[in-house]
Amino acid sequence: MTRKIIENKAKCKLCQDIIESKNTNDLKRCSCGSIAVDGGLDYIKRLGNLDNIIELTKYEGDEIMTEEKIEYCTCENIKSVHSENDDFMCWDVCDDCGKVLEFSFESLEKFEDDLD
Ligand SMILES: [Zn+2]
Ligand SMILES: [Zn+2]
Repeated sequence: MTRKIIENKAKCKLCQDIIESKNTNDLKRCSCGSIAVDGGLDYIKRLGNLDNIIELTKYEGDEIMTEEKIEYCTCENIKSVHSENDDFMCWDVCDDCGKVLEFSFESLEKFEDDLD
C-alpha cells in the first residue's frame, strides 16, 4: 500500500538544514551540499550522502493515527476523578481506569481571566 505524501522533507546532519521538495521536479539541496531531496508529493527521492539524512517526511494518516491512540474512559459509573492540565488545556482523569474523560477538556483561558 502506498501512502500519500504530505511533506517531502529531510534534515541534513552536517549543516542542520531542513529541505523540502514541493513539486515533482523541485530538487532542493542543503547548504553544505551533502544531501538533496526531490520528487515532491509524488515520490520520495534522496540524493547525495544518505548517511547524513534525517528523514522528516510526513504521510497522510500519521496525524490521525496519533489521535486514535488516545483512549477515553468508558467506565459506566465514574466514582471519582482528578484533573490534569498542560499549558493550554485541563481535563478530568478517571481514578478507576486512569483514562481521560472524553468531554472534559476545557481551555485554560478562563482561569487566566480569573487571575487578573
Ligand atoms: Zn547539509
Ligand atoms: Zn474510567
